[in-house]
Amino acid sequence: MRVLGIETSCDETGVALYDTERGLAADALHSQIAMHAEYGGVVPELASRDHTRRLLPLIQRVLDDAGTARGELDAIAYTAGPGLVGALMVGASTAHGLARALGIPVLGVHHMEGHLLAPMLEDAPPAFPFVALLVSGGHTQLVEVAGLGRYRLLGESVDDAAGEAFDKAAKMLGLDYPGGPAVARLAEAGDPTRWRFPRPMTDRPGLDFSFSGLKTHTLTAIRRLEADGKLDETARADVARAFEEAVVDTLVIKCRRALDQTGLKRLVVAGGVSANARLRERLGQAAAKRGAEVFYPRGRFCTDNGAMIAYVGAQRLLAGERDELGQMQAVPRWPMETLREP
Ligand code: ATP
Ligand code: MG
Ligand code: FE
Repeated sequence: MRVLGIETSCDETGVALYDTERGLAADALHSQIAMHAEYGGVVPELASRDHTRRLLPLIQRVLDDAGTARGELDAIAYTAGPGLVGALMVGASTAHGLARALGIPVLGVHHMEGHLLAPMLEDAPPAFPFVALLVSGGHTQLVEVAGLGRYRLLGESVDDAAGEAFDKAAKMLGLDYPGGPAVARLAEAGDPTRWRFPRPMTDRPGLDFSFSGLKTHTLTAIRRLEADGKLDETARADVARAFEEAVVDTLVIKCRRALDQTGLKRLVVAGGVSANARLRERLGQAAAKRGAEVFYPRGRFCTDNGAMIAYVGAQRLLAGERDELGQMQAVPRWPMETLREP
């Protein structure tokens, strides 16, 4: 089955073609990061307009790259949520229009299920069951995954997502949006012993997270340095390092707990923050101590992409799921625990 995947939930237009027999055939992405950078964050109306402009040419490019004609497609999958409603509508309406014209099934899929299963596109994919840490711009969740659509939420952030915290810390440090990679780069030169930021919610049992306090902590440190006239490049790098250490340490502590609590030996880490090198290093060490294995998507599939949507869509379409004719879905808020096994 050849499935075209379409992702437009936020600020990247992603398209891919996944063949259930041969694997990923082609994928392409247009990132709107440069366009939104000027405003310091995603402007929803601009995002929708840009998806409208980019999507059809991107679909054509993927079909060309895969050497596949439109008429050879067997189904279409698109991100139905969660995300920005206007942005989601662009992908949803294009998917439904194209599917209607071609007379093939179409299915709206869950964006976070896409992130969660993105490591399945790799050469050595994880076997079920596993623990998943989803760390992106909008989510920080630990999930016990028994199989496709069999998800049990173990814990999540009670306020900001880890990626969101990175983005906010970046802004305070005068770095460009999106802040995660910029903070990580600046932190490289930082002294990890200069400051110690708290590891929120690690002093009590449980698997929930909280990152908004770290934001305040970062701001206080910056203000104090500024007041003393000491906010030079070295000081900023030290703050970035303290912040990154705190976020990474907190995520690692909770992952260790989740593995111990479930007795599982496989950990999947996905979503934009899973690209963070320090997080990968520390998780690798923690897993090795437990005889556990860690799985990641390849670099460009850590953040939003069409491949993960094509993959998840293909699994569910194979099982017979599809949208009703003309019933496109665009669901801005959609808890992943409501998903079911197909
Ligand atoms: P969601 O998937 O929850 O709807 P999203 O799609 O906006 O949110 P992603 O595209 O998966 O999120 O990831 C983007 C986030 O990842 C941003 O917050 C960005 O700062 C963060 N990020 C990317 N690379 C890194 C890195 N190397 N270190 C830390 N954070 C990073
Ligand atoms: Mg994004
Ligand atoms: Fe995402």
